[in-house]
Amino acid sequence: MNSVTASIIQSKLALYDSAAFLREYTYCGHDLGSVCTPSGTCFRVWSPGADRVALCLVSDTRTGQLPMTRSEHGTWSYQTEASLHGSRYYYLVTMDGPTVKATDPYARCCTANGTYSVVIDLSQTNPDGWSEDKGPVLDRPTDAVIYELHLRDLSMDSSSGILHKGKFLGLAETGTRNAAGLPTGLDHIRGLGVTHIHLLPCFDYASVDETKPSFNWGYDPANYNIPEGSYVTAPNDPVTRIREMKEMIHTLHAHGLGVIMDVVYNHTAVAEDSHFNLLAPYYYYRMMPDGSFANGSDCGNETASERPMMRNFLIDSVAYWAKEYHIDGFRFDLMGLHDIDTMNAIRTRLDEINPQLLMYGEGWTGGPSPLPESRRAVKQNMTRLPRIAAFSDNLRDAIKGSVFNAKDTGFVSGRKGLCEDIRFGICGCAPHPEINLKLVRSANAFWAAEPAQCINYVSAHDNYTLWDKLACSCPKDSPELRIRRNKLAAAIYLTSQGIPFFQAGEEFLRTKPAESGIGFDDNSYRSPDSVNSLKWDRMTEYSGVCGYYRGLIAFRKAHPALRLDTSAAVARHLTFLKKVPAGTVGYLLSGHAGGDFLKEIAILLNPTPAAVSFSLPGGDWTVYISDAAAGTAPLAHISGSTVRVPAVSCFALGRA
Ligand code: CA
Repeated sequence: MNSVTASIIQSKLALYDSAAFLREYTYCGHDLGSVCTPSGTCFRVWSPGADRVALCLVSDTRTGQLPMTRSEHGTWSYQTEASLHGSRYYYLVTMDGPTVKATDPYARCCTANGTYSVVIDLSQTNPDGWSEDKGPVLDRPTDAVIYELHLRDLSMDSSSGILHKGKFLGLAETGTRNAAGLPTGLDHIRGLGVTHIHLLPCFDYASVDETKPSFNWGYDPANYNIPEGSYVTAPNDPVTRIREMKEMIHTLHAHGLGVIMDVVYNHTAVAEDSHFNLLAPYYYYRMMPDGSFANGSDCGNETASERPMMRNFLIDSVAYWAKEYHIDGFRFDLMGLHDIDTMNAIRTRLDEINPQLLMYGEGWTGGPSPLPESRRAVKQNMTRLPRIAAFSDNLRDAIKGSVFNAKDTGFVSGRKGLCEDIRFGICGCAPHPEINLKLVRSANAFWAAEPAQCINYVSAHDNYTLWDKLACSCPKDSPELRIRRNKLAAAIYLTSQGIPFFQAGEEFLRTKPAESGIGFDDNSYRSPDSVNSLKWDRMTEYSGVCGYYRGLIAFRKAHPALRLDTSAAVARHLTFLKKVPAGTVGYLLSGHAGGDFLKEIAILLNPTPAAVSFSLPGGDWTVYISDAAAGTAPLAHISGSTVRVPAVSCFALGRA
């Protein structure tokens, strides 16, 4: 970057942030892109610095150029009474001399690999019954149990028995079975009892050739408002591209499952040559003083949510998915790169559509950002982000050890001194009078105002799977002991206050052996399907573990006391047992009259290598979760007030 270019960029940024520019060139309409009905099509694009913009309609034989009209607040428009449904288009933008070709960042559809934007009459993309389609209804966000899934992982392995491999439609298939006849795919997920499927990026991303699909996580956004083409059977057919995603959502909704999208507005796959940047150079991005792109995403650039047109884009895009595709929630990748005002504005807009829509994200950045810390939507600022949740890396790392060190152990894998961190996590990282912050290693403040702001988990697509992490950190364990640790980990976060979340396949001990044959893959973002795909025959081998997860989820769902949404309610109903064996945690949930089938619940966590005895108040306790099983059916009755909890296990007991 030479100094002349740097100073040109700085002068553009100064212009963008000037009061006059903000007044003249902030467009607040919601009709950007191409809006198509049977009675006409309107195009509108924001390019405040352009001298000329032409709409280019592409046919197989010729490309027609239609000059666009300079319109209000930096936009250019073109209107026709023809329905251009299915027409391919792009814009020619002339600015400061040269003319460049840009696709439409607001486009609702595109051809394969985003070569052209496509006009779409959305009314023609709806599957049968779409007008009655509705996601599940939750009383409170803590009722959610979230299953994190990559579409390709679900179906690519032959053991899935799924026909539409790697496609949206594969997640809509029922009746699929593994070699032993156990349900796979959608049937399996339904049977688990989770409430929501969180899909890794399924908006259009850049890394995969849609005509010859391969594996990628998809964290490299190309077109925010368009489904990813590699997940549809015909990426070049505009109606199919949209309809198949809607069909999947419709099927999941019909089975009572909500759909959460992983959205990656914090950076784009390309920066200098992105459609955003061609239409309004450097407006949509945070720039460094030397004229380079800021890189708080660690992916080469970061978007500038604080600029009004980026903020509007983000709000409109999220609202579009919620309304047009009936999406039930959003997970914001590197949410810490978005500013607090933008996240709150999204919450407000989603509330107008459906206040039940879930919002959560990664409360951190991927690297240094020019956005001041006080403005970032990071964990430390969550009290200023009401009804938005963040991932609890506190509980995650306390349970199994740091994700940044393969060998590091946690509460379930033999590390001592983490009881207060576990207690902190159990309360959803929200204020509780019995938590001593001085003893919490991973935090010096309650970062969540309410447990509903806390996502509890031990595995996600990033880093090692839980099973592989346990193998790396405790290599000498017997398989039996490793399973005990895994089950204890699951029992902790599935009984904690907050919103539980897990990576697909954790319930049958998912593993990602490295392609090299040595060790495990902790960053499989572009590893082959053989590494990433769910191996459904493991479910046969580990059906006991899978059943344990099912039972933990059922126990959670049967007890509103495990799903309190305010810290005041947690403080009122959750009390820790004062005298517990060294290195263990125990607590009671009592006095909650919210339809619980048990009046009092005791959760006892013993990570130590020996059985220990806990003393409980009164008598007549019934065991519902043990080292062997979990669920809503009684496993054993305890007479007296002493409960023996085996090594490395969780017990949950109740009194009616
Ligand atoms: Ca794509």
